[in-house]
Amino acid sequence: MLNFSLGPVMMEQEIREIGSEQIPYFRTDEFSKLMLENEELLKKCIGATGTSRVIFLTGSGTAAMEATIMNLFHERDKLLIVNGGSFGARFKEICNIHGLHSEEIHLEYGEDLTERHLEKYDGQGFTGFLINVHETSTGVLYDMDIVKSFCERNQLLVVVDAISSFLADRYDMSEFNINATILSSQKAMALPPGISFVVLDEKSQERVLHNSVKSLYFNFKSYLNDGRRGQTPYTPAVSILLQLRKKLQLVDENGVSEVIANVSSIARDFRMKIKGLPLEIAASSLSNAVTPLKPTGKMAADEIFTYLKDNHDIYVCPNGGSLRRVLFRVGHIGAITESDNNELIKALLSMKEKSIL
Ligand SMILES: *Cc1c(COP(=O)(O)O)cnc(C)c1O
Repeated sequence: MLNFSLGPVMMEQEIREIGSEQIPYFRTDEFSKLMLENEELLKKCIGATGTSRVIFLTGSGTAAMEATIMNLFHERDKLLIVNGGSFGARFKEICNIHGLHSEEIHLEYGEDLTERHLEKYDGQGFTGFLINVHETSTGVLYDMDIVKSFCERNQLLVVVDAISSFLADRYDMSEFNINATILSSQKAMALPPGISFVVLDEKSQERVLHNSVKSLYFNFKSYLNDGRRGQTPYTPAVSILLQLRKKLQLVDENGVSEVIANVSSIARDFRMKIKGLPLEIAASSLSNAVTPLKPTGKMAADEIFTYLKDNHDIYVCPNGGSLRRVLFRVGHIGAITESDNNELIKALLSMKEKSIL
């Protein structure tokens, strides 16, 4: 099996081995120490300030998106959301459910965010900004420099979902002046699904402390409090946290920029090798994590997904909704190599030779 989807992705052997072991009891000094190491390593890899804290939440990325919004904002806030696809739309849905005042910048699929989109929201009384730095559903990577300058001049609290971008594209919280970053275990971190992370700078920690949240499980105050001694309020996905330490140690040893350079080189290799196939790259501002592809030949996008799965045991990433027949994606994250790329290209070439692609 080869998995070119965007999560869960293929995992390295050392990470899989940890997952096959018995799970230790976690209310111990040893586990607390491991969690404090996880927090420090994660902060280092993401360029967080020294006083930043990490919330370790057992739940998928969406749990962290919802919990972050619940903990950082209240009904007096006015939020601006970049909605360029299904993950931007999810932020909007969460704000609606929680009765928060929000407006969205709607982008067409493949469309990039520009200064022009942002300018009209200058001086309109917004207090927070929500963006998925990489809108995974369309493959568009947003320019964080223009986001930074817009948010600085309007003094907005900036929340970034970097779930599919962290460790695939350069991302630095201090440099981009981000107040909260949301991550999840199953994307470029290449761990099993089940844990999400929220990195909070001092300003967002202040917000958490002064906000009242109608939730027990998702109240960040308890996580901040228990996290000081390396614990979580409720039972976490212990084995993923053990795998996380291994992963972060490996990233730290190799260097974050080396890890990103590797994803970038796998992506470039794939993009070069598809030349000559009836597939068009469907965005101009691309993340290293994924290539969005629009088929221009005989087969629709969803049929290509099914054909590769059934005939070659290869998974690419299908799209849903209105893009189902139009777009599919090939991921470059996780334990993927150039020779895996070759297998996928070989399968696509054989489909072209059979005149079905
Ligand atoms: C995968 C992903 C999520 C989270 O999805 P879950 O299925 O809840 O883990 C959120 N945002 C982005 C940008 C993603 O790629």
